[in-house]
Amino acid sequence: MNQFQIKPTIQFGADALKRLCALPSQRALVITDQAMVKFGITEMVIRPLQANYMSVEVFADVTPDPDISVIARGMKAFMAFQPDVVIAVGGGSVIDAAKGVLYTLAQGGQLTEKPYFVAVPTTSGTGSEVTAFSVIKSNTEKWVVVDEYMLPDLAILDPNLVTSVPAHITADTGMDVLCHALEAYVSNQASDFSDALAEKAVQLVFRHLLDCYQHGNDLHAREKMHNASSIAGMAFTNASLGITHSLAHALGGKFGVPHGRANALMMSHVIAFNADFHHQCDTAAALKYTRLSALLGLPATNTREGVRSLMVAIDVLREQLGLPANIQACGIAESDFNAALATMVALAKQDNCTPTSPRSASETELETLYRHSFLSASLT
Ligand code: NAD
Repeated sequence: MNQFQIKPTIQFGADALKRLCALPSQRALVITDQAMVKFGITEMVIRPLQANYMSVEVFADVTPDPDISVIARGMKAFMAFQPDVVIAVGGGSVIDAAKGVLYTLAQGGQLTEKPYFVAVPTTSGTGSEVTAFSVIKSNTEKWVVVDEYMLPDLAILDPNLVTSVPAHITADTGMDVLCHALEAYVSNQASDFSDALAEKAVQLVFRHLLDCYQHGNDLHAREKMHNASSIAGMAFTNASLGITHSLAHALGGKFGVPHGRANALMMSHVIAFNADFHHQCDTAAALKYTRLSALLGLPATNTREGVRSLMVAIDVLREQLGLPANIQACGIAESDFNAALATMVALAKQDNCTPTSPRSASETELETLYRHSFLSASLT
């Protein structure tokens, strides 16, 4: 049975934070990280809550790629304070940690009533504010949990909160948006609904990401990328993703490569694989990539040209954003990479994003994708 769902209310624009003044709650637990405290973003969120006479408790211990110990500490903070609203303020790591806290408490029967859940993203990347996904680390492995229970009730997209994102994180997270849209677009669960969102997100990224990278204070470009992130999130929470993400999760878990950057390293290789670029180049995914190239105004008179155009455009953007061309350029030694390869392939194979890949990949094919991505920029 086919289904498409859009859950959170989305408050967007340069005054979106004002929405916090109107929350019908009394006790707010703000889940965040130290960077948000340092940049004054936590304060920007707390002010309207206190103006609304709410009691506020802050848990600011989330670390990038949160693991189960962060979730456990967050659960403790929740149980001690008993909030009726949880507000996640941060990047994907913070929002995923807040989801992990709520989900684990509910699974353990420790929640009588689910608190209202607000997500305030401060990066334009994961789209976690509108997705049922949470990525949690355990030792060196990243696990993708998917459950609608974790969908926020309200997402607040205020571009003022992303102007402080440093250029290299703007680049990483922006490529994450592109990857979400591309993978949702060719997923075997894609629909007219998710396609419409994915197409818009891809266009917004190609139009505005470089401006965000070069001019971090460009509020117009920041707003467009912030919207693109949620639009791509709505596409993939419905259509799911593919093996770029599976390969990136295992690589990020093992070597600490930031999530968006790991996606950027794998993306063109996976496009070539999905399109069967080096053989017939006539798969359903090849046709869809070609349609996207045409939408972007790139040469696309046939599938080979269309797929090549898209891969080249991605490689050019990646270079303009100062991102490494391959895994080796991330400073990972070949011996370490080879030693981890079998484990990463096994993890990628069982990743929650793998079943929706438009083309099924064997372990040998996953290994080949890793090997190509280690040394070369793309398969063009
Ligand atoms: P992040 O949340 O890890 O943040 C990266 C760094 O940027 C952190 O040090 C953070 O403190 C800092 N930062 C965040 N906002 C900032 C701001 N406004 N100004 C200055 N610094 C700021 O990065 P991310 O890419 O947003 O999230 C990545 C995590 O999300 C990974 O664990 C990834 O696997 C996961 N993820 C989740 C989903 C989902 O749907 N739930 C989707 C994709 C990725």
